[in-house]
Amino acid sequence: MRVLIVEDDKDLNRQLEQAFADAGYAVDKAFDGEEGHFLGDTEPYDAVVLDIGLPKADGISVLEKWRRAGRTMPVLILTARDRWNDKVAGIDAGADDYVTKPFHVEEVLARVRALIRRAAGHASSLLVCGPIEFDTRTSKVTVAGSAVKLTSHELRLLGYLMHHQDKVLSRTELTEHLYDQDFDRDSNTIEVFIGRLRKKLGTDCIETVRGLGYRLQSSVPAQD
Ligand code: CA
Repeated sequence: MRVLIVEDDKDLNRQLEQAFADAGYAVDKAFDGEEGHFLGDTEPYDAVVLDIGLPKADGISVLEKWRRAGRTMPVLILTARDRWNDKVAGIDAGADDYVTKPFHVEEVLARVRALIRRAAGHASSLLVCGPIEFDTRTSKVTVAGSAVKLTSHELRLLGYLMHHQDKVLSRTELTEHLYDQDFDRDSNTIEVFIGRLRKKLGTDCIETVRGLGYRLQSSVPAQD
């Protein structure tokens, strides 16, 4: 999962970046409305945290431009406590949720987790795929009830697959949702991580779709 943080307060931006990185997300950041708009317009994010009061272009107009251009990623806006009208304007402009400043970073994380889940069609925070269970709150993974230990990159990959189970995901899509913009991307590494995941999960539920990518199957067809 990959998120964008648009916040001009450097300390707050760093605090959010750290919290999302610790929770296992790939994080991109912007410090003004123009830079934020550009990134949200050109990169695929699973969610965006967008401050309203920003230099160069305010959050509401950034959001309006994204939505007009057909960008549908979930957006959580950050508003000042005494600016109730910002919440209304933000939601009318296409925001999916808001958090009022000052906030606890855990609340932002929980709301973003819910937005990502909902956008992928999941109501529960526990994602289940056959014998695999992925707890989005704790990033704990079990297979048939037994805990499986995964590295942060493996977790990020499995998390994306679990959110989008039964869909064919190209290597490019997986790469774009697993790494931040500064990362030296090589889509061949996806193959390596898929191999490790298969081994650690011990089930053959990750199907290779030749020439297209990978699919996490919620029900593995019985072998003849
Ligand atoms: Ca601000």
